[in-house]
Amino acid sequence: MGAEKHTFSTYAQPDIEFVRGEGVRLYDNRGNEYLDLTAGIAVNALGHANPELVAALTEQAGKLWHTSNLFPVQGQEKVARLLCEHTFADRVFFTNSGAEALECSIKTARRYHYNRGDTDRINILTFEGAFHGRTLATIAAGAQPKYLEGFGPKAPGFISLPFGDEDALNAAIDENTAAILIEPIQGEGGIREVPNQMLRDLRQLCDRHGILLIYDEVQTGIGRTGKLFAHEWAGENGEAAPDIMAVAKGLGGGFPVGACLARQEVADALTAGTHGTTFGGNPLAMAVAARVLEIVTADGFLEAVNQKGLLLKQMLAEIVDRYPRLVSEVRGKGLLLGLKAIVPNTDIIAAFREQKLLAVGAGDNVVRFAPPLTITPDELREAREKMIAALDGMAQAAPAT
Ligand SMILES: *Cc1c(COP(=O)(O)O)cnc(C)c1O
Repeated sequence: MGAEKHTFSTYAQPDIEFVRGEGVRLYDNRGNEYLDLTAGIAVNALGHANPELVAALTEQAGKLWHTSNLFPVQGQEKVARLLCEHTFADRVFFTNSGAEALECSIKTARRYHYNRGDTDRINILTFEGAFHGRTLATIAAGAQPKYLEGFGPKAPGFISLPFGDEDALNAAIDENTAAILIEPIQGEGGIREVPNQMLRDLRQLCDRHGILLIYDEVQTGIGRTGKLFAHEWAGENGEAAPDIMAVAKGLGGGFPVGACLARQEVADALTAGTHGTTFGGNPLAMAVAARVLEIVTADGFLEAVNQKGLLLKQMLAEIVDRYPRLVSEVRGKGLLLGLKAIVPNTDIIAAFREQKLLAVGAGDNVVRFAPPLTITPDELREAREKMIAALDGMAQAAPAT
């Protein structure tokens, strides 16, 4: 009762309690209405309380919730087929989260080499600024000191390289390199895009050295950047295709679910008994994920995401022109966009929140926007008005330099 908390203090949260959502809007317990350009960090891809997802979930909830993977789970085959039909992949392993999808990706890559007798081939090359989750292996992969400190020895076999530095990458490759792990666009790292040419180069480099290419598309996947997966921007005929890919966030539209996708030969590395999960891919998650994929891959959906992404990007570019002392640059693709801030990004996010607009911070002092992919142009224009009201207030308060 009262003000006493019983949850861990892991999150520094504003005192707002949301009790209801509808589309791009959230409502708190005091009756305030917010425009949500965070979508639960790129998760509510189809908006809050999407009627089609509510129907898919409630229909399944009345039938069967859970059996574990002791038995084939209804829906897994359908979702896996949809994912494979639209990607490089032949096989899918379902998880509950992004970090678990990464764990599966890392284990698959190492086991693939192990099965071929390359037992020392365990090293995963990663990039500074990366974020792959909060488990012990994924904080080692992310290599951010602030996430590693105090949690014991860093898990071995992860080598972090300067972002975008192909020379450093070439120099780091040796006979113990198992895989290269990369986000096509760093999300938490500050909406930092890997150039398309580099993704194509990575594919060739991996082929040349027998290394596996792993993409972390946990944040960038499921239509977020205007393609089903962000690496498709670097070529739709496999020029930049990975061997393994981790997916989560948008996949369940708000229902927790992740997936590790792989080519047949690579997926075959994990034989019966080598990996598993109690909850992963349960019937509720599969019912929702199937619907999400059907909607996102329907004719015209991604075209609309691209059009709205261009509109938001144009609005943000105008904001950069208008407030050169507050923000300096627009980044990103589709509906995963960032404003590089000059003042602390947290000040801008707080000022937006005063205007009942929600955005989320990212590394490199960036204000990140990841609205529901279903946001309308009118709702984007409404967001623009709120941004201008917030930034006008900040520009007036800021001392002239
Ligand atoms: C969010 C995120 C993760 C971790 O996902 P969780 O579901 O929080 O475990 C991993 N990689 C990227 C790129 C992410 O954005």
